[in-house]
Amino acid sequence: MVLKRNRKKTKAVFIGPVQIGAGAPVVVQSMTSTDTRDVKATISQIRRLVRAGCELVRVAVQDGEAAAAIGAIKQSITVPLIADIHFNYRLALESIRQGADAIRINPGNIPAKHLGEVIRAARDAGIAVRIGVNSGSLDKTALKKFGAPTADALVESALRSIELFESLGFTSIKLSLKSSDVTAMIEAYRSISRKTDYPLHLGVTEAGSLVQAAIKSSIGIGVLLNEGIGDTIRVSVTGDPVQEMQVAYGILRALGIREVGPDIISCPTCGRCEIDLAVLARKVERALAGRKEHLKVALMGCVVNGPGEAAEADIGIAGGHGSGILFKKGKAVKRVGEAQFVQCLLEEINAMTSGREENLE
Ligand code: SF4
Repeated sequence: MVLKRNRKKTKAVFIGPVQIGAGAPVVVQSMTSTDTRDVKATISQIRRLVRAGCELVRVAVQDGEAAAAIGAIKQSITVPLIADIHFNYRLALESIRQGADAIRINPGNIPAKHLGEVIRAARDAGIAVRIGVNSGSLDKTALKKFGAPTADALVESALRSIELFESLGFTSIKLSLKSSDVTAMIEAYRSISRKTDYPLHLGVTEAGSLVQAAIKSSIGIGVLLNEGIGDTIRVSVTGDPVQEMQVAYGILRALGIREVGPDIISCPTCGRCEIDLAVLARKVERALAGRKEHLKVALMGCVVNGPGEAAEADIGIAGGHGSGILFKKGKAVKRVGEAQFVQCLLEEINAMTSGREENLE
């Protein structure tokens, strides 16, 4: 379900059939970590990403062989594919020829004299371009003027690129202004959002491994989404990109922007806890990973306070001594042996959600 929140109205841009902006659901995307030239490994990772909820996928195009692989990869996937190009405009042209649904370029490292050719090729192919401004590779003019990749420098670089694209009659643009500095990233997106209506791709770059990335992305992306800014998000994690999906949907659920997948609530435990709740939480998380149906599942350490504390949950388990209570909406339903907690929860959840549409709008 998409929840109505005050979101900034942006222009619509399509990547394959997926709409970005203009009131569409905030789209979750990721990028493969495989060598794109290894077609088999890249397809396999893309499929895992899609199963976990990824709605747009980007691949690095590091050389001609990687660009040439795009056609073969596209044949084996259903999710729209974005080719990520740095430095070499010819790779952008080849990626477009191979059928990429969009390209991402960094205006900081593709000379303006070649950008025109890329823009015309994208226009002829009817695909979108992400102008991906990045604090680590800002164009020289902006860097010289501001002395550092500040928020203002990122914004100025993005605006200059927009001008160039528009001068060639190209408006199928989305923008990102990524920084590894969370406050600079927030400031840059706020500023660009006041100056243009092109849809925004939010992300904190080089955010670190899972815990660090979850913290930085939840703050950077979360603050902006909460202000109605942002049309598509990417949580960058060092490691398996499939992990990004859990964080991305967690952010969207926590802000009430999209209700997708189970929301697992578990108590911190205290002296009243009589079960191994950490193990139970891990098992339930694993068992429900990748499910699209939205429901709140509570895992509580004791029967004394658990059902009451999690009264708003759709279903839950409150632990006791060797057994626990299965409860629904705060009301006890039946007693269950500790060894059967996970199986019982899954059976009940399957019964509750059977027939529900998968909810990745
Ligand atoms: Fe403690 Fe029970 Fe509350 Fe968990 S639900 S924090 S075990 S009182």
